[in-house]
Amino acid sequence: MSKPAERRPSKEPWRDEGASISRSQTGAPDWLAAPLIFLLVKGAGECHAPRVRTVIYPGSFDPLTNGHLDVVQRAAKLFERVVVAIAKNENKKPLFTMAERLELVKKSIVHLPNVEADSFDGLLVNYVLQQKARTIVRGLRAVSDFEFEFQLALMNRKLNEQVETIFMMPKDTYTFLSSHIVKEIARLGGDVSVFVPVHVRKALTEKFAAQKLQPS
Ligand code: ADP
Repeated sequence: MSKPAERRPSKEPWRDEGASISRSQTGAPDWLAAPLIFLLVKGAGECHAPRVRTVIYPGSFDPLTNGHLDVVQRAAKLFERVVVAIAKNENKKPLFTMAERLELVKKSIVHLPNVEADSFDGLLVNYVLQQKARTIVRGLRAVSDFEFEFQLALMNRKLNEQVETIFMMPKDTYTFLSSHIVKEIARLGGDVSVFVPVHVRKALTEKFAAQKLQPS
């Protein structure tokens, strides 16, 4: 009768008795246990790695333009959840009320299942964390946007180190577009149909028509 093989201490921990997975426990051969442990450890590590799932795209959206929408669509392809967050921002004296801006954004994103619209008041970094997010998306049109956006991003980071800002550039044909310009053109009776979704153009026409009717 042959002598049972002498058990030698191994330098490979997954082969040692007491290691988390052994053949006797799993019924799996040793050669399978090693890669299995590697995968488990790697998997556990990945669980702790930060992943960008939800991003917040904040702004006044007074009103939303095709440039905003372009950024939203690009973000929707990259992230699991995109929240278009409309800032109350009364200092800017918005043309549209919060309810109107929210409605216009909601109508513009119906084709994007992972995008939602919301409103917020107060510090953006607080809202971002409240949404269980850590990432802000902002649009960069041109160098002229950079200075302000840079300052804003660094200030938000100062307010909360956990929050990062990332920038997305729209299609080149939208780089000259802003809510402000669109409102000016619409106010003067110009055609804004190539700059905004149909329902936004309609809302602008109605808003300025109503303003004209108001006694000055
Ligand atoms: P805010 O008052 O915060 O600037 P806006 O609604 O004007 O709000 O803009 C929100 C974000 O969208 C900003 O990051 C701005 O740079 C970006 N943005 C505005 N217009 C465009 C556009 N045409 N293309 C890409 N990004 C844009």
